[in-house]
Amino acid sequence: MDSILDRPIQYLPGIGEKRAEVLAAEIDVHTFGDMLMHIPFRYIDRSKVYKIAEIGEELSSQYIQVRARVQDKGIVGVGAKARLALVVADDTGEMDIVWFRGARFVMKKLEVGREYIFFGRPTMFNGFPNMAHPEFEPPIVVEGQEPIGMQGIYSTTERLSSIGLGTKAIFNAMRTLWGAVKDYIPETLPSYLLERERLVGRAQALHDIHFPPSAEALNAAVRRLKFEELFVIQLQLLGQRRVRTEKIQGYVMPKVGGYFNMFYRERLPFALTGAQQRVVKEIRGDMVSGHQMNRLMQGDVGSGKTIVALLCVLLAADNGFQSAIMAPTEILATQHYRSILKLVETTGLRVELLTGSTRKKKREEIAEGLLSGEIDLLIGTHALIEEGVQFARLGFVVIDEQHRFGVMQRAKLRFKSRELPPHVLVMTATPIPRTLAMTLYGDLDVSVIDELPPGRKPIHTSHAREAHRMRLFGFLREQIAQGRQVYIVYPLIQESETLDVANLEAGAEVIAREFPPPEYTSVVVHGKMPAKLKDYGMELFKSGQAQILISTTVIEVGVDVPNATVMVIESAERFGLSQLHQLRGRVGRGGGQSYCILMTGDKLTAEARRRMEAMVSTTDGFRLSELDLQLRGAGDIDGTAQSGQGIEIKVSNLAKDGAILEYTRGVAERILEEDPQLQRQENVLLVAALERLNRKKKADVDLSQIS
Ligand code: ADP
Ligand code: MG
Repeated sequence: MDSILDRPIQYLPGIGEKRAEVLAAEIDVHTFGDMLMHIPFRYIDRSKVYKIAEIGEELSSQYIQVRARVQDKGIVGVGAKARLALVVADDTGEMDIVWFRGARFVMKKLEVGREYIFFGRPTMFNGFPNMAHPEFEPPIVVEGQEPIGMQGIYSTTERLSSIGLGTKAIFNAMRTLWGAVKDYIPETLPSYLLERERLVGRAQALHDIHFPPSAEALNAAVRRLKFEELFVIQLQLLGQRRVRTEKIQGYVMPKVGGYFNMFYRERLPFALTGAQQRVVKEIRGDMVSGHQMNRLMQGDVGSGKTIVALLCVLLAADNGFQSAIMAPTEILATQHYRSILKLVETTGLRVELLTGSTRKKKREEIAEGLLSGEIDLLIGTHALIEEGVQFARLGFVVIDEQHRFGVMQRAKLRFKSRELPPHVLVMTATPIPRTLAMTLYGDLDVSVIDELPPGRKPIHTSHAREAHRMRLFGFLREQIAQGRQVYIVYPLIQESETLDVANLEAGAEVIAREFPPPEYTSVVVHGKMPAKLKDYGMELFKSGQAQILISTTVIEVGVDVPNATVMVIESAERFGLSQLHQLRGRVGRGGGQSYCILMTGDKLTAEARRRMEAMVSTTDGFRLSELDLQLRGAGDIDGTAQSGQGIEIKVSNLAKDGAILEYTRGVAERILEEDPQLQRQENVLLVAALERLNRKKKADVDLSQIS
């Protein structure tokens, strides 16, 4: 297809090769069509001209325009510090304007005594307004140009601004672009859908979103573009699911036999919660359906997902199938292995652990046991399956993602199973908000464990600052005197791992001083340590010989020490909400009252403060993840950037557009019901839209491909 929309952006007048390179690198704009989808992130009313006297705190950092005369101008300072200082005035007052960059260039363009429209964000300084780096133009109406009503504000970057592509320049480029493409914008939705859903056409929507003639037109444009974006994604995901449930056969596992019954009646150390029972039933439903299961099991930390998975492993074994459980880290895999081994002891189920540190001889033994079918359950890290371990009859795979959305990793899996693909159950402790789950996991069935085992006391959470540190230490001493154990966690940000470890080591020194041996034992564990030392430290803590575990976030993934009741999170402002919640979930597992203390610096951004407040006010993981989504936007939620669905969302905001998302899902469902293969003539545009989406997707993550 040869369309003007595919033309490289360098050919747009005023762009050229060099700017095109920067556009591609900075905002992923390569073609005319890409540029057209660079949509304003907000709008300002340019028909309103403010008087200088009207400017006050409440207008500060908003874009406004002022019509004023230049009274005085001059370069202040020398060399790199040279800046242009301007005094401008209207009939109500004076304002200072400065340029720190490009001072000499701007100096030449502005004449003393002349009037200009200055457009920028004012700030108040000592009660006087001033503006830095405004855009400006003479107040003349150019013949033939549309008068500017609402003007879009485009996101830009330092680098783009420095080559003359600030928000205003992008706006001007957009006008040029529009002139070139306006007659060549194809409609992408079928006309019956436009009519039924009262949507404006695509060309109209794109015009109005860049150059809104009115607020109503803008709203209609936004609605149309959001609808299209979310609708096509839903259509894709639902279509995938349909293909899977209709075409991908799965093993049928109807028998409830000795393993399951014996375990359930004699070995299960507690009664299942209602939620656990429900989810076991849902999974069992999949296992007898004849289709391959692809199910996501969501449940807050400590909600008891492991037991549910284990029960299903036993069902698989009853039907003569082997199972695998994969965990994101060796520590976690080992932990699963130990706790599961304890649970199934006398049932005769054969369980093995395979990790990077498994000895060669043991490895060979395991390989043999898997091929002969003697091993019923293999536990290990993702790596082991990716390396292609051979099973005799693998029927069920559990992937413990903990807090990660590892869709990408799942996609890479290739199981060496003989006939049909195994059933797949993904466990995640991240309570993904519904809107996000629908988008990321729309192709999976979802089960939710929304109930904690009985008898858990809510964790008491508080926020403290450096000034309270001595009080904190006093509190820790009290808790340790009562026989409790303490986690102290330091943030780890990959780019500066060395620095983070230095932080942790400095912190550990303070602890060693404040909690000296032999009365106290503290251990340090972090990712840069050799595995042996790490294991040794963890063992000291697990066995209760050490009262304090100082670590980076390694313990985030699933350490279970019921006697540890205090979680201290250092530099808590550097963690996201869902991470904080995961960390907090490490305590509150035994009977005693547990505590989480968030230590932060004294100066916090408003957003960080809200995160701390949220943590103190609720322990509900779903509530927190909704807040997280609102505070940070979907792209930033832990791990979604690597989620691998490769779905780019440009117009919509998942935090706010949940209602539209659900609505479009309904519309997509209805269309697929009427025309499951999208074969009807009226739906050709939808087929094309799906093709475009798939071409854009970076990775193929269709789970039905696991084979
Ligand atoms: P998750 O993996 O969901 O974070 P786990 O499966 O590790 O949670 O369970 C957390 C703890 O709760 C474990 O010690 C487990 O034995 C216990 N547990 C699980 N289900 C129940 C239940 N129904 N009643 C009591 N304790 C339970
Ligand atoms: Mg777990």
